[in-house]
Amino acid sequence: MGTSDDRFQDIRDGVRALCAAFPDEYFRKIDEARGYPDAFVDALTKAGWLAALIPQEYGGSGLGLAEASVIMEEINRCGGNSGACHGQMYNMGTLLRHGSEAQKREFLPRIASGELRLQSMGVTEPTTGTDTTKLKTTAQRKGDRYVVNGQKVWISRVLHSELMILLARTTPFADVKRKSDGMSIFIVDLHQAIGKGLTVRPIANMVNHETNELFFDALEIPAENLIGEEGKGFKYILDGLNAERTLIAAECIGDGYWFIDRAAKYANERIVFDRPIGKNQGVQFPLAEAYIEVEAANLMRYRACELFDAHLPCGAEANMAKYLAAKASWEAANACLQTYGGFGFASEYDIERKFRETRLYQVAPISTNLILSYVAEHVLGLPRSF
Ligand SMILES: Cc1cc2nc3c(=O)[nH]c(=O)nc-3n(C[C@H](O)[C@H](O)[C@H](O)COP(=O)(O)OP(=O)(O)OC[C@H]3O[C@@H](n4cnc5c(N)ncnc54)[C@H](O)[C@@H]3O)c2cc1C
Repeated sequence: MGTSDDRFQDIRDGVRALCAAFPDEYFRKIDEARGYPDAFVDALTKAGWLAALIPQEYGGSGLGLAEASVIMEEINRCGGNSGACHGQMYNMGTLLRHGSEAQKREFLPRIASGELRLQSMGVTEPTTGTDTTKLKTTAQRKGDRYVVNGQKVWISRVLHSELMILLARTTPFADVKRKSDGMSIFIVDLHQAIGKGLTVRPIANMVNHETNELFFDALEIPAENLIGEEGKGFKYILDGLNAERTLIAAECIGDGYWFIDRAAKYANERIVFDRPIGKNQGVQFPLAEAYIEVEAANLMRYRACELFDAHLPCGAEANMAKYLAAKASWEAANACLQTYGGFGFASEYDIERKFRETRLYQVAPISTNLILSYVAEHVLGLPRSF
């Protein structure tokens, strides 16, 4: 299936060639075993695809967000799931934008080569959820160290990472002027931390997504692992969200095309009442509608990339791209499952796996309601509701 806007064909060809070695059965077996696609992620890393956004001077390929988004899109469009590795592409942005030169020299080249995986970002907490500024995990300075206490939830890929970016409160909520002040970000060496103040408890969940509860009990972090200035961590995290949202939008777009492609093929082949089911408009129309919506989301994705890569404000476009794409991929998933009828529920067709995977994007990394509230407040000028 073609689309009206297939840019960056050379990148698409490269990622598709790599993905061809990892067919449906590969991802199906990993999903059934609740395993991790080590071989796939290794191959992507060795080929340099996950280092797309790291500047060349630090060992990456220094590509723009548009190119990076096409890499993520293609992984999902080929039947895989970028969720296993997308953190490696964008978590380093915090370090790149706000780290000291010494931190960048120490970490970025080894992240680019894959020697160090910075796959994890610890923000969400069980008692405060989306209300991030109320988070309760604290990091207290004691001499040349910070001591961390608290709890996080839904922190992904911790067990497939050497490093994690951690957001914790360094000044109590009661002592700050603005609620977004007083939080800081740290780079945590997970091999040193686990078992020495950090306990990781995996969460069984609907998707094959390695995600965990984290318990911090007097975890000591060297003070030099603070990124940027103490107290500005929340702003630093926000700075990275536009890239993250746009990349996730691209993953949804990849899923959307995958579902429509599969459904259109099946609707042409499956004969019921002596004719292909795709001859019925009741089968055609939901697929046509889903295709239209994926195409529209695709345009907004490129608009967000264009602005981001030109260093222009793109908060609204990145949020809208994520909203449209997550909705479109979910509609496409639904239409595809319906087209397959009963067979859509059988694992061997991979529809039910991708159906579960794409549903996540309406909730994480940002839920749909929060995007709507962003647009209402920041684009339409409506009063803040919370
Ligand atoms: C598989 C998975 C992986 C994840 N990986 C990570 C990770 O690596 N790192 C990390 O930090 N987090 C991660 N998350 C957490 C994710 O970002 C949160 O689940 C998400 O931001 C929503 O927060 P919550 O679950 O606490 O929901 P809540 O904040 O409890 O909200 C529940 C529902 O209420 C709605 N809601 C809440 N407040 C409002 C309001 N004011 N107006 C309208 N609606 C509202 C929300 O939209 C949501 O639908 C992951 C989550 C999942 C499921």
